[in-house]
Amino acid sequence: WQGHSVILLVPDFTGPCPVQNQLMHSSDGQGYSPSVPGSYSHQMPAKVPPHQASGQYNYSGSQNVSQLNNFQGPGQTLNRPPVAPFSGSPVQQTGPGPQVLPPALPNSAAISSAGGFPPGASPPVLSNWQYGQTPVSQPGGSQTSHLAQGTGTGSAQPPSSLSGNTNPPGSYQYAASPGGPPLQNSYMKPGSAPPPVTQPLTPLHPPSRPPLGPPPVGGPPLIRPSTLRATVPQQFILTLCLPLATPHPSPAPPNLKMNRSVGYSYPALPPGYQNTSPPGAPGVQTSALQYPDGSKHFHQPALGTNHLTASMAGLNLQQEGLKPVNLLQERNILPTTLLKPPVPNLHEEIQKLNCNPELFRCTLTNIPQTQALLNKAKLPLGLLLHPFKDLSQLPVVTSSTIVRCRSCRTYINPFVSFLDQRRWKCNLCYRVNDVPEEFMYNPVTRVYGEPHKRPEVQNATIEFMAPSEYMLRPPQPPVYLFVFDVSHNAIETGYLNTVCQTLLDNLDLLPGNTRTKIGFITFDSTIHFYSLQEGLSQPQMLIVSDIEDVFIPMPENLLVNLNENKELIQDLLKTLPQMFTKSLETQSALGPALQAAFKLMSPTGGRISVFQTQLPSVGMGALKSREEPNQRATAKDIHLTPSTDFYKKLALDCSGQQVAVDLFLLSGQYSDLASLGCISRYSAGSVYYYQSYHHKHNPVQVEKLQKELKRYLTRKIGFEAVMRIRCTKGLSIHTFHGNFFVRSTDLLSLPNVNPDAGYAVQMSVEESLTDMQVVSFQSALLYTSSKGERRIRVHTMCLPVVTTLSDVYLGADVQAITGLLANMAVDRSVSATLSDARDALVNAVIDSLSAYRSSVLSIQQPGLMAPHSLRLFPLYVLALLKQKAFQTGTTARLDERIFTMCQVKNQPLVYLMLMTHPSLYRVDNLTDEGALNINDRTIPQPPILQLSVEKLSRDGAYLMDAGSVMFLWIGKNCGQNFISQVLGVPNYGSIPQNMTHLPELETAESIRTISFISWLREQRPFFPILYIVKDDSPLKSSFLQNMIEDRTESALSYYEFLLHIQQQVNK
Ligand SMILES: [Zn+2]
Repeated sequence: WQGHSVILLVPDFTGPCPVQNQLMHSSDGQGYSPSVPGSYSHQMPAKVPPHQASGQYNYSGSQNVSQLNNFQGPGQTLNRPPVAPFSGSPVQQTGPGPQVLPPALPNSAAISSAGGFPPGASPPVLSNWQYGQTPVSQPGGSQTSHLAQGTGTGSAQPPSSLSGNTNPPGSYQYAASPGGPPLQNSYMKPGSAPPPVTQPLTPLHPPSRPPLGPPPVGGPPLIRPSTLRATVPQQFILTLCLPLATPHPSPAPPNLKMNRSVGYSYPALPPGYQNTSPPGAPGVQTSALQYPDGSKHFHQPALGTNHLTASMAGLNLQQEGLKPVNLLQERNILPTTLLKPPVPNLHEEIQKLNCNPELFRCTLTNIPQTQALLNKAKLPLGLLLHPFKDLSQLPVVTSSTIVRCRSCRTYINPFVSFLDQRRWKCNLCYRVNDVPEEFMYNPVTRVYGEPHKRPEVQNATIEFMAPSEYMLRPPQPPVYLFVFDVSHNAIETGYLNTVCQTLLDNLDLLPGNTRTKIGFITFDSTIHFYSLQEGLSQPQMLIVSDIEDVFIPMPENLLVNLNENKELIQDLLKTLPQMFTKSLETQSALGPALQAAFKLMSPTGGRISVFQTQLPSVGMGALKSREEPNQRATAKDIHLTPSTDFYKKLALDCSGQQVAVDLFLLSGQYSDLASLGCISRYSAGSVYYYQSYHHKHNPVQVEKLQKELKRYLTRKIGFEAVMRIRCTKGLSIHTFHGNFFVRSTDLLSLPNVNPDAGYAVQMSVEESLTDMQVVSFQSALLYTSSKGERRIRVHTMCLPVVTTLSDVYLGADVQAITGLLANMAVDRSVSATLSDARDALVNAVIDSLSAYRSSVLSIQQPGLMAPHSLRLFPLYVLALLKQKAFQTGTTARLDERIFTMCQVKNQPLVYLMLMTHPSLYRVDNLTDEGALNINDRTIPQPPILQLSVEKLSRDGAYLMDAGSVMFLWIGKNCGQNFISQVLGVPNYGSIPQNMTHLPELETAESIRTISFISWLREQRPFFPILYIVKDDSPLKSSFLQNMIEDRTESALSYYEFLLHIQQQVNK
């Protein structure tokens, strides 16, 4: 993340804007105005502020009143629950006595309500994907826009098929525009005046120009000449923005000096500006302001020799990219360093400003001009996003005016064009907008009259402090509710010690401020609340045994201010693990506990963290075991769909009240993650899974939980968030992947957003992109920070449009394609069958390589030819087929498979790729050659090896990094030096069988090895366990299973797979 300077403009500014916003002046006095185009008026559901004067909860403002008709007000509280004074002694047993879980029932009965596709009744499914069109059957794992939409091929999709459940249509439509299709791209409330979307744009263009044609005259070509071909008008220009050369007003540096004027210049500053304070620059000292006098020109990137060289370089790159690779001949195609994403073929001045591919990535960095061309390429078009990633440098802008397109609400960005100093043209809808007065002043350069040098047009990633029109209620406080399974089974695992201790250790690091609230619920067959009321000498436990009709006793003291009640909270965390040690209660009332948690959180919104160790057995949401171990290998009839829609419905209720649920499943037994996971998926939560967690039997899992929980508790969090992804007119987004709920056409509801979540979307080319040289994509994430600020994080990416198939292949991003296909394959597994999904993955390779062979290659050669950009495609798809989510013929447990599918859906691409195709390094001969130096640490960078036992030598030691797990394989004849200097044991035979840690030794070898492994671990939000594997180790098979290129019992080797593909391609 380099190349962007930090422009921190009053970063922590939280008070009212010193410069009164014009929009606010025109508002109706309630802090925002629904009729003002600048408002996000329906982005948050209308909500009742917490603590109504009446003491009653009033849900009249939300759309899900009917869901809550069982809700009892607090007036009944004291009549019903037996209230036991908390004493730290064994809990009062009010539920039924210990019971044995019923034996697993045959699965046929369990799925009746799932509404999915029962085995044998699947709709006919094509074995390949129709890219750019809505899938044949609605996938269960992703969400398409489910409201009527004016554009998009998904419009025929009925709302009720959102996830194949049985909800009546309309039950969960949170859009604020009931009674009619929402205006596309409109933020208007129903009844308010429509924005000027439909105004014809033609008057703003010269009559000869097509309405949506390229921006007008002047400037250098945006795209490098090598791809421009003769068709690009010479006068084409995208933007007049230059990167900031210096933060001071000064002439452009020589190398950027214009050699061509755009044909107009600006008049001198009006005299009135010379000595007045510039508008809208809070935090900038006026005394330091200087206005250079005289007229200004827009400086253009020069097309000098440097650029010519760059173009030639691009040409070479292009030829390299087009060079076909015969995969059957070239065996060493895996790069020795991590594969870098392709660089879009844009003019370097534009590319310099483009969004970091770690945040925003497209499967095709050359966008096909038409859907027909996209169809021909047989590759999926889509975006992969990591929108809330932790960034070391993030420009934050505090400004009373956030400049957005009046028509499509796009945020001004580096890829807009300035027609002149007072007008800018939107790069998504091409509307010409006025530049607001405030925007004329650049607080970074302190120069007036340089709107194109504002940070908003110099940074593809930027964060705005949102003014009050972006709020429908005051920003919520951070609220954290922890829900703990304390059944006998849970206590047996010993997890509560780890969790409570980690929470105690990190209590002061929870993101928040003086408003932070916290609360706790525990449950077995009954639900236990904890009053942490100020003045109590110890926490008070309240037991609710009526799980059929859950109510909240004493609602006001269950979620309390963290700072003001810290001692009571610490007391509770210290005692909780001991409180239930004698419990014999085996039942689990997870569903009712979640209902209680939802009710408790509804007035504010916030985060629920639920820890569960078994299959829920009583009350709403009780589940029956559906796993049949003997069927694991067949890949048929496995239960990937939820067996009840209880968890999804509850999640949607949570989403409507800005509550997200994160699930920590710590279980040695089947817990039906397919059903339970819905609570997190639709509420924008996360799922963590610790298989066979046990504090004594599985100590590495304890360390993993500690480390990951620490990250979870202390990482950044955004509350009451919504995300919208926009793209240039002509492109259309139709399917979304990730954990969220699609609230209206393209608005993702994210009650919580965290920096470790990834998202993907599929797109199609709705209207031909004729006359367009580039298209842009913009994601905008509106959220409330833990400090109570409303912020908007915006990422914008610009990509060139191409007209030929070879250019489409040239720009293919094979990792992004693999990631998107993995998401699509999860959906296919759920909506159809696992084998359908596997077939579709294989066909994706066959179809694209066939199309390449028949339509691009001029000379037919023997072998299996692939474009250079796709040379790793068959390998990555084979890796997906061998990955836990999609593999067959293994003993992968059902919950493990489902969890891997959750990861595919929710992880940023970089982790998904590591999980799919691990990195293998030889580590017994690490050197400092080519090492990284970070903070006085030397980190060796060994080359990445192919995943084949052929690459292993018995006298070496190899590290396999598979993302959430690492294996250190020690060859039988591994050098004595490594064994003693790194492992700290005298010989191979004395390496312990279950070794999972490297001793920290004072040897150069040990320091290098540990430094490398720690560096790998530091770069991810989860903690990979390191297993040290010997030849006779039981984990050897897990290690070998990741050898993607080798043959396994049930899967082809890479070479066999290539032969299979070749056979199909040549058909
Ligand atoms: Zn626009």
